[in-house]
Amino acid sequence: MLFVPWRYIADWKCIACGNCCKSYSVVLSFPEWLKIVKNYGVDKTVSGLDKLFIKRRNDGSCFFLSHLSNTYLCGLQHMKPKACKLWPFKVLSKPKFGYANEAVYYYSGDKLFIYADSTCSGLRYGNPTREFTNYTLKEFVEIALERRNDQFKTTANIGFLQPYARFRI
Ligand code: SF4
Ligand code: SF4
Repeated sequence: MLFVPWRYIADWKCIACGNCCKSYSVVLSFPEWLKIVKNYGVDKTVSGLDKLFIKRRNDGSCFFLSHLSNTYLCGLQHMKPKACKLWPFKVLSKPKFGYANEAVYYYSGDKLFIYADSTCSGLRYGNPTREFTNYTLKEFVEIALERRNDQFKTTANIGFLQPYARFRI
């Protein structure tokens, strides 16, 4: 996978293609693991050597991924792990993937570096729009820094599912 600094990205919107939920293991913090175990049972999780994960189905997809009318939905939206909320962006304190000048992002006096995983289908490349810079990325940063939990810009906004917002991907 390739990580692209945010200044090369015009905009991002999750199109609920489900690719990320089919391809990657979701790492859980201990409190996230406890919540899932309490609500769904320990068999919906997997323990690695030093990490905890959501269980994957035989086809590799997340146990909580559902499919409805050409759209993929997250059955764990109401307690979605932080790793899923942050996907496909990485908010870092150091320019781990290079291009520091293109990755730097200032938030409330903090100097951060933001990259996107290029395998996400929701990325549109070009000059960053004002909305992407000032609202979407800001929300990713606030989730990364644990200054907010609720998702507005950082999750799929699927019109026909508005009454069932907790199932968005
Ligand atoms: S975050 Fe990206 S890869 Fe994942 S469902 Fe949305 S568009 Fe698809
Ligand atoms: S967003 Fe939901 S369905 Fe997708 S990997 Fe995370 S918990 Fe699973």
